[in-house]
Amino acid sequence: MADVMAESEADVAVIGGGPAGLHAALVLARGGLSVVLLDESDTLGGQYYKRRAEQLTAAFGDFRPRGTELIRQVRDSGVDCRTGTLVWGAEDGGRTLFTSDVRTGALGRVNTRATLAATGAYERSLPFPGWTLPGVVTPGFALHLATMDRVPVGQRVVLAGTGPFLLPVACALLEVGARIEALVELNHPYRPGVSSIGGALRQPARLAEAARYLLTLARHGVRVEQGSRVLAAHGDTQVTAVDIGQEDGSVKQLETDALCVGFGFRPSTELPRLLGCATEPDPSGTEQLPIVDADGATSVDGLYVAGDCAGIAGVHAAGVRGQLAAHAILRRLSPERPTVRLSGLRRRARALDRFAELADRLYPLPTTADIPDETQVCRCEGVSAGEIRQAAATGWNDLHGTKAATRAGMGPCQGRECGHIVAALAGRNEGAAECFAARMPIRPLPMAATVEGQEVP
Ligand SMILES: Cc1cc2nc3c(=O)[nH]c(=O)nc-3n(C[C@H](O)[C@H](O)[C@H](O)COP(=O)(O)OP(=O)(O)OC[C@H]3O[C@@H](n4cnc5c(N)ncnc54)[C@H](O)[C@@H]3O)c2cc1C
Repeated sequence: MADVMAESEADVAVIGGGPAGLHAALVLARGGLSVVLLDESDTLGGQYYKRRAEQLTAAFGDFRPRGTELIRQVRDSGVDCRTGTLVWGAEDGGRTLFTSDVRTGALGRVNTRATLAATGAYERSLPFPGWTLPGVVTPGFALHLATMDRVPVGQRVVLAGTGPFLLPVACALLEVGARIEALVELNHPYRPGVSSIGGALRQPARLAEAARYLLTLARHGVRVEQGSRVLAAHGDTQVTAVDIGQEDGSVKQLETDALCVGFGFRPSTELPRLLGCATEPDPSGTEQLPIVDADGATSVDGLYVAGDCAGIAGVHAAGVRGQLAAHAILRRLSPERPTVRLSGLRRRARALDRFAELADRLYPLPTTADIPDETQVCRCEGVSAGEIRQAAATGWNDLHGTKAATRAGMGPCQGRECGHIVAALAGRNEGAAECFAARMPIRPLPMAATVEGQEVP
């Protein structure tokens, strides 16, 4: 069969057009390299610099104009920006990338001299009884509706889980007219210990940002209930009530028509793992992160990672890390260029890393040990926590054995949603950082595309 894939070449491929990828692409293009920027979304910007539809921009203004400006600079610098392009596979250390047009399924192959993966993160969900009810969503989804479409996810909303991300989500919901019944924070980050206060004071901008959010919540009379967690959601066709386990051990019920629950983010590491990068457990001990040097170089020659996919550190760190990786690629591919002083960027990167470490300490993850047996864990294949525990108890006590025995993780999400829970439930040690192996295609492809491109490995 003839090779039907459109083939193209570039010095560098940047996968992901969020803050990390955009900053990197700009440095690379300005440094004289040909750059292709691939993103599966319809628009550039990633999570933080998401683009509003034109009519909504006209009505409500530009969402994060800094993102608009950054994207304009990237386009003007001559970067070949390919939105709607999924990278579903890679080989040869990332020098060959396999792509698919998300609208048409048309396949492509990009050959490069170096690749930067800046693929961001997923939201971390943890199952509880009722979490599959309509109206139970992630905070990121609620934020997207509120900021992009100006629609509140519900009139009365309970926000729960852990992490600083719950604060801007609550404020965005208030802005579009939702009433927040409670912000249920698992930990006690807003009455921190002395050591945490010391760490926070070294990050005045981030501290001020958090204070602004908390002030807005206070002005709207939103209760921030620390040390509490969602135990269950109730409703027939839609969530109508939520059980909250409180610090003193009591349980109270809140009526609501939307529940947003999230436990921070999980790095999207499939591509580096597919290419065989050496990995190590992340600070939570539940994810495998690519091992990188200070510039994002991985153990695979010519492959770099930056931004949230290299470790969750937020938008500012993503931008700085993207630039550092781009400078490293420039040094590698254009060694004749004069040396650029990067000490300022490196200092900023280290400071932002310290802030990420502080956040990890303030918002630790809960145990998965108390997920009730009857709770569904793998939503794609309908596998419960009890079935996974039973498989583990009968000898399938590792992630891949449990997957084979129960089908958990074999559905369309390929374990992106449930893999970390299945690992925790099936593993011998709580918190063991196992994950499903990354395999091509790393995302589902249309059947027509796979038939068409049958020469692809
Ligand atoms: C849902 C969500 C909402 C957030 N909201 C906020 C907020 O309000 N405030 C805040 O401070 N921080 C927020 N964050 C965190 C912040 O957005 C991130 O720290 C920051 O965007 C990280 O930048 P990045 O470039 O590493 O990744 P991202 O911004 O996530 O960009 C990654 C890009 O890679 C693309 N991609 C991934 N895999 C592939 C592939 N295989 N092929 C092609 N393209 C691919 C994605 O489409 C995406 O555009 C949010 C994060 C998430 C996940």
